[in-house]
Amino acid sequence: MSCLFCKIIDGSIPSTAVYQDDQCYAFADIHPRAPVHVLVTPREHIASLGDAAEGHKKLLGHLLWAAAEVARKKELGKGYRVVVNNGAYGGQTVDHIHLHVLGGRPMSWPPG
Ligand code: AMP
Ligand code: ZN
Repeated sequence: MSCLFCKIIDGSIPSTAVYQDDQCYAFADIHPRAPVHVLVTPREHIASLGDAAEGHKKLLGHLLWAAAEVARKKELGKGYRVVVNNGAYGGQTVDHIHLHVLGGRPMSWPPG
């Protein structure tokens, strides 16, 4: 298996866990772009949001809920941002779908 995030999820590459359950694993981003920067990943390998199938609709909802749970655990009551980069133009660099949870500072808009 060559996927970086699959290796993080199975523990063969170390990470700092923030939240986990039977469907997902959330861990600290190694190159944080904000005081809080957590990645929420499904345990199942799905390459990108665009590759998610109709059968993944419930899982996608669960990932969004897990992002909110991460924000609660990290006490981001002032607000936060959830981002999914998709494909080359979307800035995706790791081909295992993940939600970025960013917080701890005000966010600007539009993103770069
Ligand atoms: P994206 O560019 O949206 O595909 O996001 C990939 C994210 O994975 C980036 O924010 C990287 O900093 C992060 N990342 C890459 N390698 C690791 C790692 N070993 N542990 C934690 N985060 C990582
Ligand atoms: Zn994977």
